[in-house]
Amino acid sequence: MPRSRSPLLPSTPHSPLLDPTDTPHGAIPFDRIELQHFIPALDRAITEANELLDSVAANPEPPTFENSVQALGDASDKVGRVLAVYFGLMGAESNDEFKALIQTIGPKSSEFSSRVSFDPDLFRRVDAVHKEAASSSMNAEQRRLTELTHRDFVLSGALLDDAGKARLQEIAAELSQLQPKFSQNVLNSTNAFLYHTNDEDELAGLPEAAIEAAAHRAKAREYDSGWAFTLQDPSLTPILQYAESRALREKMVRAKGAIAFGGEYDNTRILRRIATLFHERANLLGFATHAELELEERMADSVDSIRAFLDRIYESAEPASVKELDDLIEYARRVDGIDELQRWDYAYYSRRVKEEIYDFNEDSLRPYFKAESAISGLFSIAGRLYGIEFRQLDDVPLYHSDVSAYGVFDENGEELGLLYLDLFPRETKSGAAFTGRWRGQGLRNGEMQTPLLFIVANLTPATPERPALLTPGEVGILFHEFGHALHALLSKCTYSALASPNVYWDFVELPSQIMENWVREPEALDLFAKHYETGESLSDELARKLKDTMKFHAGIRTIRRFAQEDLDLAWFASDPRGIDEIVLFEKEVTRRGSLFPDVPGSCLSTSFEHIFAANYSAGYYSYRWAEALEADAFSRFQDEGIFNQEVAASFRDNILAQGNKKEPMVLFERFRGRKPDADALLRRLGLIAD
Ligand SMILES: [Zn+2]
Repeated sequence: MPRSRSPLLPSTPHSPLLDPTDTPHGAIPFDRIELQHFIPALDRAITEANELLDSVAANPEPPTFENSVQALGDASDKVGRVLAVYFGLMGAESNDEFKALIQTIGPKSSEFSSRVSFDPDLFRRVDAVHKEAASSSMNAEQRRLTELTHRDFVLSGALLDDAGKARLQEIAAELSQLQPKFSQNVLNSTNAFLYHTNDEDELAGLPEAAIEAAAHRAKAREYDSGWAFTLQDPSLTPILQYAESRALREKMVRAKGAIAFGGEYDNTRILRRIATLFHERANLLGFATHAELELEERMADSVDSIRAFLDRIYESAEPASVKELDDLIEYARRVDGIDELQRWDYAYYSRRVKEEIYDFNEDSLRPYFKAESAISGLFSIAGRLYGIEFRQLDDVPLYHSDVSAYGVFDENGEELGLLYLDLFPRETKSGAAFTGRWRGQGLRNGEMQTPLLFIVANLTPATPERPALLTPGEVGILFHEFGHALHALLSKCTYSALASPNVYWDFVELPSQIMENWVREPEALDLFAKHYETGESLSDELARKLKDTMKFHAGIRTIRRFAQEDLDLAWFASDPRGIDEIVLFEKEVTRRGSLFPDVPGSCLSTSFEHIFAANYSAGYYSYRWAEALEADAFSRFQDEGIFNQEVAASFRDNILAQGNKKEPMVLFERFRGRKPDADALLRRLGLIAD
């Protein structure tokens, strides 16, 4: 986090957040950025932007692409730069004092964006350029940027009358209170649950590490003895998978299902209000439903095509799921005399069956995945695919001493950008894994900028006894995030607003998810999966098993996700005011995704943060959508070679480099030679024959 400086020192007029610096590689001068710089820098950036925007609006010259659309982007550039560093550090390295700045930064930045989208003079100019676009001499990229800028204005309410604009602002203001409240309720309700026991028998089956953690948790909560469990994943997951005590598993599943459902932290009223406001906003903007509004900026062109896509997956997975479930029921009956398999039994028995079939667990493979080897494996895979090279730099200012920075160079020596890796847990970083940008690629105020990317993760760290050893799942996370970074690093766009990864929501996970495939290919594993002590390679048998586990219970796992996907569309693809009793409604719409008996007192919606508090409303399908795209794209690599130069060059040129210059469907077709097809995903899962 930026150092705090005594407020008594006079502040220098130079701002390291805004003014040019002589940092090597054009990096962010983290060594000079301090907490006190952010608000003054944002104020100055907004003041300067407003002056520039006023002069764009008042320009006596007739509107052109350059003096209107491009000028608009340039005017807001500095505001964007300050916010990128602020939000990046908020996730990567921040204390409470730093996080608290959001109280000031949030309102300032949202006021600035409505100032832009509600400015009638700016919109008139953009609209004029947009109307002329087809007949003007603009190139394709300029036309695309004009189209998207125009649409942004329209979807932000530029065409509404004053009353409409005012109502839109009220809705935005109300949502900005309700959505964080929804998340807060989920968090508080989750944290309000604690199960403490002194009965050692209840721990039967749990891994040693989970038992130790439970004992620490009990101490931390001031119990003299015993073990404590919470609903947070690190506590919950081992119980569901390993606890022999069926009563313990049941207790946890019931508590999890009741999160924010009734009681002090109830979300039912809030989520209804959120759905109603979404719907009203869509109607105001001329759309029948919230889903239709959201689909304006998606690769999927209609709710019908999403449903058709999901139905195709469902039909292929359903027979397999029936068979898998029958076998599992039979297994549980045979080994434990279970007569009706419940929700709290699935993870436990499927884990046992999986271990019997494959005879290994992920943990036992850690010695083959030392973090440093995984990183250098990743770099050499990217090198073989795209001819790029990563060189560690020691002259780049870092925001924390745990971070390392790499220069990324193209085959011809051209510097493509910087990549910062920040992979191990720290109290001052967020618990999630994500890839962020300090700066995107593209033209800004006449200067072509290279991108600065950073990957934040919380992988298993080294201990005094051994180096950082990862599970294959953690290596997958690393490859996934690296895929996002590559997308941005290989972007070749003129205008930064179009640069990767500024693409549609249901397309953005294609470049990331496709990278995970190389973790499952023996030819790629051969490059880096070596035992950290003996140097011995992962055996062919283990490599094959690792790949085969993709197919384990693929039917059940595929079907269970429909509960969320169908629920999401049910809330947002029609008028939510018609929804009467939430639990009955859920039961009705999640029928095909529910494989186990209902659990009274449970509700899915009240803790479904993705759709009510994050950006996944009418978009939960996009995970699976991107998976289908990625499996289909990767099948070309499988057919022609996972390191085939021609295929890699085509993926780079047609997908990674293109950003949002064209509709994602066009980009995909250029790479694949046809429209996407879900068959590759179904084949990979073993749900249709090879
Ligand atoms: Zn991702």
